[in-house]
Amino acid sequence: MPLVNSVEPAVNLLLANRPLASRVAAFGDQPLSPTPEVLEALAEESAKLENATPWEIVQWAVDNYFPKLTMATAFGPEGCAIIHMLASIEPRTHVFNLDTGYQFKETLELRDRIAEKYGIEVEMKQPDTTVEVYEALHGGPLYKTNPDQCCADRKVKVLKEAAVGWHAWMSGIRRDQSPDRAKAPIIGWDKKFNLVKISPLANWTKKDIWKLITEENVPYNPLHDQGYPSIGCWPCTRAVMFGEDERAGRWSGFKKTECGLHTSE
Ligand code: SF4
Repeated sequence: MPLVNSVEPAVNLLLANRPLASRVAAFGDQPLSPTPEVLEALAEESAKLENATPWEIVQWAVDNYFPKLTMATAFGPEGCAIIHMLASIEPRTHVFNLDTGYQFKETLELRDRIAEKYGIEVEMKQPDTTVEVYEALHGGPLYKTNPDQCCADRKVKVLKEAAVGWHAWMSGIRRDQSPDRAKAPIIGWDKKFNLVKISPLANWTKKDIWKLITEENVPYNPLHDQGYPSIGCWPCTRAVMFGEDERAGRWSGFKKTECGLHTSE
């Protein structure tokens, strides 16, 4: 069943195979709403796509939601892999990054390399305060004392604002990354951001991602070659040692394992 919009369900049931202009006209700017019918339809689609390839899932996302489809990337290998797929499926898909002000220079340079290779200009979404102002307001860097608050202010709040006006977002999470992510559906309703959430790589492994990157010459962050399997903001990311979990270098020394973008609470 194609996606449905609670406002005009009869119209939207027919949308999936329509040309772009027709789909845009039918959806307008009305936000989707998680009615029981919508949730049921998403669960059905997710089950059907459980054995689909990431390309097929990205194609499904484009067919059903473009141009109301967006994608968030931190320029990790997974995000770069999805951008590589989008470049051949629908390069006009909107892609954005949560630019906290604390990203590595290698990460920011990767944005330019992606733009050069694919012509996809990732939009940088910034918080309403600069790092200098934010740290002055809090008497110093909050990532040292309260990283949850820092992530809430500089990532989650920014994504909530960035989510307005879209119907669906794609992310590069994989189920094998953490216990939290192990439950991620391929397609689901993201109640935190009021969007359909699509995870084309949910069933892929780290090995699958790197096979694609290597074989198809996908640009990636050079820090991965220096012992950083997972890269976020520089103050909260360290290289990991042999045998450590791939996310062990994130918020090292804190119980925190997620920035809050991919958790339901
Ligand atoms: Fe702040 Fe660290 Fe979260 Fe970045 S990852 S927003 S620096 S707490």
